[in-house]
Order: sequence, then C-alpha cells, then structure tokens
Amino acid sequence: MTDEALPATPGYRGRFAPSPTGPLHFGSLLAAVASYADARAHAGVWLLRIEDLDRPREVPGAAEDIQRTLRAFGFDWDEPVVYQHDRSEAYQGALSRLESLGLAYPCGCSRAEIARVARIGVDGPIYPGTCRDGLPRDRRPRSLRMRTDARCARFTDRVQGEQAQVIEEAVGDFVLRRADGMHAYQLAVVVDDAWQRITHVVRGADLLASTPRQILLQQVLGLPHPSQAHIPVILDDQGRKLSKSLASAPVDPGDPLPALRLAWRALGQTPLDGLGSPSGFWKQATEQWRIERVPPCRSLPLRGLERQ
Ligand code: GLU
Repeated sequence: MTDEALPATPGYRGRFAPSPTGPLHFGSLLAAVASYADARAHAGVWLLRIEDLDRPREVPGAAEDIQRTLRAFGFDWDEPVVYQHDRSEAYQGALSRLESLGLAYPCGCSRAEIARVARIGVDGPIYPGTCRDGLPRDRRPRSLRMRTDARCARFTDRVQGEQAQVIEEAVGDFVLRRADGMHAYQLAVVVDDAWQRITHVVRGADLLASTPRQILLQQVLGLPHPSQAHIPVILDDQGRKLSKSLASAPVDPGDPLPALRLAWRALGQTPLDGLGSPSGFWKQATEQWRIERVPPCRSLPLRGLERQ
C-alpha cells in the first residue's frame, strides 16, 4: 500500500549538524536520514552544518569524509555548508547581548572544584552557584555562565511528546564560553539555527535534555523556536551510544543501501521495495516518511535491529 505524499510545508528549513570527530557512523546516519526524509517529505530545504567548534577533538579530514559519505548515500544540501569555526563573531555578539542583559556572568571555578561539591544532573555536575553573585576576590574569570532560574521550560517534541525541565534544578547555570575561550555548543547551535532560519530540528535523543537550554537562549535573545523531534540513539553491544569518538564502525560509502534500509527500519518506517540505488531509496522514502511511526524511545540497541 502506498501512502499519499505529505502536504508541502512552506518555509520548512531543516539541517544536519555533525561534529567532525570521525567518519559518519550508523548513529549519525540515522539522524541524517530522519532529518532529510522529514525535510524532503515536506518539500523543505535541507542544510548541512559542520559543528567544528571543538578544534582539539576534530579529526583532520573528517569534515570532508562525512560530506563524501553523505553524497554517496544520496543526500544533497541546498546551500553552502556552514562551518562553526567561521562563526565566532556571531557567537561573541550573542554573548555580549547576554552580558548586557545581566544573564551571563564570569565564573572562576575549575571543573575539579565544581566536581568536588556538585550534585549530578541530567548533563553532568550541577554548578553550585559559587560565582553567581560576583567573582570571589581572589578569583580570575575563567568561563562565562548563563544565569538560570526556577521556571519550568516546556515543549512538545514531535517524537518524544511532552517535555518539561526546570533548568536550574536539572542542569544549573551552564557554560556559554569555556575557560579555553571556546564558545559552548548550546550557544552556537542557537545562534546558527536562527541565522540559517531553521524551522525544524530533527536529531538524536541524546540532545533532548539540551533543548530547554536552547529554548531559554532563544527566548532571551528574541530568536524563533524551531519545532523539535528527537529520534532514538543507537546503542552498541555494551549499551553505549554509538559515537564517532568510540571509533564505532563507520558506514560504508561503497554500499549504502543496506545501511539506509537498516536506518529506515530503526526509524519504524514501512519497508520500501525494489530500491536499486540511493536515489531510488530517497524517491520512495520521501513519499512514505511518517514521523509518527518513529519509536518514541530514547535509545535502541543496534543488535536488536540487525536481528529483525
Ligand atoms: N553536533 C551535534 C552532534 O554531532 C549535533 C547538534 C544538533 O543537532 O543540534 O551530535
């Protein structure tokens, strides 16, 4: 049975934003497939952004390698690739704005000092607030932090449903610029999504707990809120997230169809027939994609999928 194509969503702009810390692995492919299928099914634009803020963690050649692999898998992006390393002025502008609003403050604590006293929250140690009301006299500023409060951030995720988080409780005052001068992911992603006029974010559920911080930054900076969809992350045999930094097996650009099929199945979609080539896959995938079929769970074991 063939589903009718979804209606076009005027102005839809989606993106895939890999970090170049290694070759594309199956977990990233899943996020790329979901965001591309969702964009194309709505007759939308799809963009590629290389999140290379963390220069020390970058693997030389990985950004080009990821793009070659994406092309072999039949992805194509509609505008020139954006590299975060070119965007520091924009991040600095947003930081200055937060400082002038009294929302960003200098912090002199080291990670080790924080780890000694902090409770653990959804994303590591919760900052205990030591420098919140001014740097202690013997301290020099290291990082810049965002002042959070007790309000509850709520949003409806297209896959995971209703979400609520009190950022102050779950995360605490979070870093906007690190001690080494690097702008934090949370700030950069918000500035870039707004600059690229992203309307729909589709990405891994490991970032679900980050979304309230991003919504807060969008609110205070007066930026639009893109709609959110967080797809399950894929776990390896030890129950760890497949990630480039764990040197998980990269997907094979010489044989894209098996991985595309497996990704499609992992995303809960109806099997496609007679594919032949990545472009054949995408033609059908664009017509058949239904985000409601994506399992609303945070993670899926790779092994379970391969056995099906
Ligand atoms: N760069 C992030 C990653 O590779 C994704 C960020 C995002 O999609 O917001 O996990």
